[in-house]
Amino acid sequence: MSSTPIRAAIDLCLSLVPEGENWRFMEVCGTHTMAIAKMGIRSLLGTRIQLTSGPGCPVCVTSEPDLRRAIFLSEREDTIITTFGDMVRVPVMGKSLLDSMAKGARVEVVYSPIDSLKIARENPRSEVVFLAVGFETTSPTIAATVIEAKRTGIENFSILPMMKLIPPALRFLSAHPDLQIDGFILPGHVSAIIGAEPYSFIPKEFHLPGVIAGFEDADIVDTLLRLVDMTSKGEARLENSYSRVVSQKGNIEAQEIAARVFRPVDAKWRGIGSLEKSGLGLREEFSAFDAVSKFDIPVLEAVPDPRCRCGEVILGKISPTSCPQFGRSCTPRNPLGPCMVSSEGACAAYYKYGDRGISQKP
Ligand code: SF4
Repeated sequence: MSSTPIRAAIDLCLSLVPEGENWRFMEVCGTHTMAIAKMGIRSLLGTRIQLTSGPGCPVCVTSEPDLRRAIFLSEREDTIITTFGDMVRVPVMGKSLLDSMAKGARVEVVYSPIDSLKIARENPRSEVVFLAVGFETTSPTIAATVIEAKRTGIENFSILPMMKLIPPALRFLSAHPDLQIDGFILPGHVSAIIGAEPYSFIPKEFHLPGVIAGFEDADIVDTLLRLVDMTSKGEARLENSYSRVVSQKGNIEAQEIAARVFRPVDAKWRGIGSLEKSGLGLREEFSAFDAVSKFDIPVLEAVPDPRCRCGEVILGKISPTSCPQFGRSCTPRNPLGPCMVSSEGACAAYYKYGDRGISQKP
């Protein structure tokens, strides 16, 4: 989509905002955060329609105590940690997995959890632990890996469960009295798995519009037009702008694989705290693959870095550029928090695309 149709669509959106009002829509998907920053759409919208980034990056929402557990495991002598790359550089209490590696810990970056099984087979005297971070998009693949480990009798493999579910976070955000969100740009990848139905509570219970969005410029502009149109009429519906990929019921097979291995459990999110049934834990049948019980990992508390305001960025309370460390003591080369580390983090997106953001509504 060229810049002229985008400009025309933005002008149309802005013309629908009544004088004296400003509306605030939140995206809860790291890929949308990156796409919106790349389009430069925030600066085109100005202050009357604000797009704010929510808890859509799985690495960013991983709690500090969970990160400490990962580092604790990496320091065990016989252990090989397998992980997606972004986790390696996230600091907690002045340490990261990268520091563990510098001291001799074995941490392997993998592109799929299933690669961990090959590493486990090749290293029978070591314990291989996969750092299971992700939303509904990733959990079916992690579940398939656990099923395969059980089927093939790989006993030196386990996972550290840190997966999160998007609908409970959306419920929290919708109900939050201070956030003043007027509607949601709903995640395309997660929705491809769970379908549209799990979001129906957003318009029903909170009278907020939500639109499931794709990732092309045209998808995002269409989503914005739909949100603005509904808001201007005082309407709240769940709409699907990504129907070429997302169905009402989602990918049933993927849902069944995840449900066979995992059950919903309470989980702690960075910036949010504990949310009921917002994470995934292993079912009894697969409990032998739970690193927490296998290695008797203690509860590890963690004090957040007072300089880093990722918790507020994740909630959309401040824009990344409102953090005094942004681009100064915190850059992608020297990140202070996960929002700057992760390829899907809001701070990294703003930094990469020079998105200066706008002042925030609350
Ligand atoms: Fe944290 Fe850096 Fe983002 Fe500030 S700019 S919130 S320090 S990650």
